[in-house]
Amino acid sequence: MVSFEKAQELVMAKVFETGTEQVDFNEALYRVLAEDVYADIDMPPFDKAAMDGYACRLEDLDKELELLEVIAAGEIATHKVGKEQCIKVMTGAKVPEGADTVIMVEQTEEIRPGLIRFSGNKTAPNIAYKAEDVKKGDLVWKKGMQILPQHVAIFASVGCIKPLVAKQPRVGILSTGDELVEPSEYPEEGKIRNSNGFQLIAQVRAAHCIPNYMGIVPDTEEATHEAIKKALAENDMVILTGGVSMGDFDFVPRIMRQNQVEIIFQKVAVKPGRPTVFGRTKDTCIFGLPGNPVSSFINFEVFAKPLLYKMMGLDYQPLDLRLPMGIDFSRKKADRVEWLPVSLNKEGEVVPVEYHGSAHIHAICLAKALMSIPKGLYEIKKGALVNVRPI
Ligand code: AMP
Ligand code: MG
Repeated sequence: MVSFEKAQELVMAKVFETGTEQVDFNEALYRVLAEDVYADIDMPPFDKAAMDGYACRLEDLDKELELLEVIAAGEIATHKVGKEQCIKVMTGAKVPEGADTVIMVEQTEEIRPGLIRFSGNKTAPNIAYKAEDVKKGDLVWKKGMQILPQHVAIFASVGCIKPLVAKQPRVGILSTGDELVEPSEYPEEGKIRNSNGFQLIAQVRAAHCIPNYMGIVPDTEEATHEAIKKALAENDMVILTGGVSMGDFDFVPRIMRQNQVEIIFQKVAVKPGRPTVFGRTKDTCIFGLPGNPVSSFINFEVFAKPLLYKMMGLDYQPLDLRLPMGIDFSRKKADRVEWLPVSLNKEGEVVPVEYHGSAHIHAICLAKALMSIPKGLYEIKKGALVNVRPI
């Protein structure tokens, strides 16, 4: 059995990247950038009026100003602003030549048509200066970073309309178990609905990768062999659930080996998820996760998700908050790292949610985060700081 930390390290060491592709920037949300993006223009591209008002010379503020013309954003003034003159400009318009200040419309009086006076007592220049935000040639977003809505705006403004991004790993999802029926069916006695498969589809989507649901696999060696073989051939990563424990029909690790999978580990000192299996062929990673939905959920989060991100070139650093415990907590065994579904109370303290064990999927639905309890720790006193990862 490997330690939890060692297992994480082994998973992350087995990364291969999925390659790159160019996409429309408007379809690039949440993709991982595979190139550095530079500005092809200054931003702002010219000295820009930051207010609706009158462009004039600062030294003329105590004078009456002759109005030369009115320009909208996008228009260029036909006059130059000289001594005791002004041009009315709208926010976003290029500041006319000769002007160094834009006085706000609210701080002016029109003495008579065509004659303006500053009525405030002081003013800022109210100009957004050329290149003050970004200079032509500046790096605006880096390779290996995820593209969020604000980056789409930056790409639009620098004309990066076809960014190079990492290809999304395709993840084959298999649910093993003779007891499983599809969610559309009503389970007969002894059967349960396949919840893991769909939970994993959603988790893969939430990690911005491509799920490939490959169905329920009966607990026979032949069916498992065929399913694993097909899944390895068609995907960058395969995730199976069930069939990895000590039951009479738990032969997933053996069948993986028959399919040229090098098993990297087969048991991890983590709760839930001790029988988690991880292996790889030359071009596919494969996880065998325990069948209980909470184990499957957590082990996807802590093992598969960071690997998927790394396959896309993203150094994923999950939020790891240090928060005070809201109750006295103890556990009987401390031989494994434990992940516990928790919530936060009004004081921002960590409180475990009601949890009956790894089949209790509803517990995760009520949880806000997973608390990690280190190996060897039996007791946590109220107020002690604990590590939690939001989910
Ligand atoms: P196993 O890991 O195959 O021994 O399964 C452990 C437990 O998880 C059993 O109670 C299974 O019925 C349950 N289980 C296995 N696969 C699924 C699934 N896809 N959806 C929901 N529960 C499952
Ligand atoms: Mg099973």
